[in-house]
This record gives sequence, structure tokens and C-alpha cells, in this order.
Amino acid sequence: MTQAEKSKPIADQVRIQFGAGTRKTIAFEVSRLGASRALILSTPEQSDMAAEIAAKLGKAAAGVFCKAAMHTPVSVSQEALEHLEACKADCLVAIGGGSTTGLGKALAYRTDLPQIVIPTTYAGSEATPILGQTEAGVKTTLSDPKVLPEVILYDPELVVTLPVGMTVTSGLNAMAHAAEALYAENRSAASDELAIQGLEAFVKGLPRVTANPVDLDAREVTLRGAWACGTVLGQVGMGLHHKLCHTLGGSFDLPHAQTHAIILPHAIAYNARSAATELAPIAALLGGDNAGVALYDFAKSLGAPLALRDLGLKEADLDQATELATSKPYPNPHPVTAPDIRALLQAAWAGDTPVI
Ligand code: NAD
Repeated sequence: MTQAEKSKPIADQVRIQFGAGTRKTIAFEVSRLGASRALILSTPEQSDMAAEIAAKLGKAAAGVFCKAAMHTPVSVSQEALEHLEACKADCLVAIGGGSTTGLGKALAYRTDLPQIVIPTTYAGSEATPILGQTEAGVKTTLSDPKVLPEVILYDPELVVTLPVGMTVTSGLNAMAHAAEALYAENRSAASDELAIQGLEAFVKGLPRVTANPVDLDAREVTLRGAWACGTVLGQVGMGLHHKLCHTLGGSFDLPHAQTHAIILPHAIAYNARSAATELAPIAALLGGDNAGVALYDFAKSLGAPLALRDLGLKEADLDQATELATSKPYPNPHPVTAPDIRALLQAAWAGDTPVI
């Protein structure tokens, strides 16, 4: 990583630390918040990471709750809240991907306790005040300052265990936030700069981490990209890409990062019809004339999944997906019409090159 990459600006309202082994400062970070009883959160699969943090905290670990799940089910948050009250926790430590971060945010929303997040994927949720929650099969999203974590510890040593396939899809998930930020209605020069910084980190870093998953320098480059892409997601509105992924994840239960990875080139090619100038930085970073096609070629070169049918979506579901994604208007640079979205989804379902 170059010195220039290391010295890029970071948000001042959140304390952010990067570096191999930075998770080991957890006891200092908890006491710095004026707290002494942390509840540590993870998924069941990452309970060993939670146990390591609990051991580092010693007496300052009030409890461990390892049942975080995708899309933040309210039932899990309620169970965690009971655990939090029983162990009298005064701060939250979430170690994991977007699912664990989501659980920490759900608890902070209900208690206003401070949060320390130790991200292990590139989803970027740790850098946003956004909380998505699922109840009775319906996912709703809110934005509240209480939800924004106070501290983020980006430790590249924790991301080396992320399987290569998940590394690629999670990285493309992060890039999707930055790509849509480039044409957001409420974008600014600062958000553009941050988005390009995030995209560049993944364009450079993803080929390196897929070639050598234990390259800590390359992992840190990608974590810095995750921070930039997540931060810009919290700053500006998203468009067609996030709408399609929300629909496919919420109504057809498709996996989060993989769905983002497949839809991204198609949504960007669609919007390049009206926002080629705004999307030019992507074409410039990846090479080629069309940002969407360039993203498709990049994803393919990394071995990303390309077809929604490989995620289990049926061709017969495409009409309903089109209807759901086009029923309510939302800001998007290119007009959203049902026939055009149906054609986009058909290409994404089959894994074809994006329609331009
Ligand atoms: P995830 O957190 O669900 O993780 C996927 C799986 O990978 C889990 O089993 C997890 O334990 C495992 N895993 C994570 N990191 C690992 C590592 N380093 N090594 C080994 N295994 C690891 O997946 P995600 O894509 O990070 O998060 C998806 C969720 O985040 C979705 O619910 C999505 O809606 C949410 N999200 C929210 C925001 C926001 O701003 N609110 C932003 C992005 C994503």
C-alpha cells in the first residue's frame, strides 16, 4: 500500500483504526468509551472470533451472543436484547460481516449503547446509520444516528479467512455502493471522490487478494475500500441496483453479496444509457467504453457468479421481480420501465453480457 493510500481522509465523527492485529486493542477501545461490560456479538460460524475477543476483554466481557443471522430478524434481536439486559452490558462489540453488524445496530437502536464493530467482510454496514430489519418475511429499512457505530476496527488478519468466492462477491457488493453513488441525485464532489477512492481500492485490491488470500497488505487495501464504499452508501441515495437487489433478496430470498455481484454490471450498463459521464471513472479504472460491460468483464475475471439462475431463481419469477422492482417510482438516472427491467433481469438470470 502506498503512503498516499494510507493518508486518505476518514470521517471525523467515527473512530476508525486500520491495521493487522488492531482487534487486540479491544480492551483499550471499550474503556475509552467509558464502558466496562461489553456484549460480544457474532454469527454461529464466527463464534471462535467472538471467543477470542471475550478472552482479550477478560472481566470487561459481560456476555457473548452468537446467533446473528442474515437480514437482521427481529426475533433474534429481541432474544439478544434479553441477553443484553440480563448481563447488564454497557457497550456492544460486533465481530463479523453485515449480519452481525446489523444485530449490533438493532441493539443500539433499542438501547442507544455505544458500538465497536470489527468487520470481517466488505459489506460496509459498519460505516452507515442504516438498519434493515426483517419481521414476518418483510424487510424494512430505517436511518437513525443512534445506529451509526462509534468505533470501527479494520483488522486485515480477520479477513484472510473469508473464502475467495465470498471475498469476490463481498467486494463487488461494496463496489455497488460506490458505483451508484456516482450518479446519486444528492451526490457532491466529496462523495464522488470517496466513491472513486473505494472503487479504485477494489479494482487494485481484489485481484491481489484472490491471487493470495493471506496477503495482509492487499487485504488492508480492500478494507480501506470497504470503509470508503460503506461511508458513501450512508451519505447519498441509491438507485436501480440497490432496488433490484432489495427485491431479489427480500422477496426471493437470494443471498445478499452474490446477488449484488450479479446485478451490478447489468444495473450500471442500464444507467450508463443516461449517466455515461458520471460513470466514466469506472470505465477509466477498469478499461473499456461502457462501465457496465467493464464491471461484467472484471467480475468474470475474478470468477464471480454471473447468473441469477445459479442462485436458484426460476425464470418464471422474473415477471414478478420486474413488477415488484417497478411498482413504485424512485430516483434513477435512466427511466425505469417494466419492459427494460424485464430485459435486464433476463440477461442477469442467464449470465449474459449486459444489455447496453
Ligand atoms: P454475512 O455477515 O451474512 O456473512 C456471510 C457468512 O460469512 C456468515 O456465515 C459469516 O459468519 C461468514 N463470514 C463473515 N466473515 C467471515 C470471515 N472473515 N471468515 C469466515 N467466514 C466469514 O454477510 P455480509 O454480506 O457481510 O452481510 C450481509 C448483510 O448485511 C445483509 O443482511 C445486508 O442487508 C446487510 N448490509 C447492511 C448494510 C447497511 O448499511 N445497513 C450495508 C451492507 C450490508
